[in-house]
Amino acid sequence: MNEDYGNKALFVVDMVKDFVDPVNGTLAVPGADALVEPVNQLIETAYENDVTVFYICDSHEPDDKEFENWPAHAVKGTRGAELADGLLYDAEKAVVVEKTRYSGFFRTDLEEKLEEYGISKIYEVGVVTNICDLMTAADAAQRDYKVSVVKDCVAALPDETGQYDDNDYFFNRQAPLLGIGAVELAEALDAMKKG
Ligand SMILES: [Zn+2]
Repeated sequence: MNEDYGNKALFVVDMVKDFVDPVNGTLAVPGADALVEPVNQLIETAYENDVTVFYICDSHEPDDKEFENWPAHAVKGTRGAELADGLLYDAEKAVVVEKTRYSGFFRTDLEEKLEEYGISKIYEVGVVTNICDLMTAADAAQRDYKVSVVKDCVAALPDETGQYDDNDYFFNRQAPLLGIGAVELAEALDAMKKG
């Protein structure tokens, strides 16, 4: 797949109320609410430059097996599964992919949608850096898509022991090994504007 001949996509991962709302979110990721503004810059630029925006969001049944490991979150039809307050969304341009596991590719039509839109290059933002962002970016990279995660537009869970920084580990160790790139917000905005 050649980046020069394909279209671009923006993956907005799990920017739903249960992960982003610091007050009412059942699994709020610290700092996720601060991502809405920079992510909106990317979404707006994507819409203006025919970059397809994929909102890849958890949408669980109330008895999903995932809730054996996590508090219930993003249950289909509840407020917590809705897009975060203030997040830009244009129903005519957006592609919504509902998922039930970490990867946006697992039991979804994401792969078909990427082919349908002729995507070869993906920019990814959202939460959680080393969980759903990682699994989705890795699955895209393994399918030979060029993937860059936007450094200033992701957030990880804090390590209470203070021993680990999951963002650093992702960008310094996991991403290079998996063939996942990293860009700053300004670079991603520029790249989208170039068409
Ligand atoms: Zn989930």
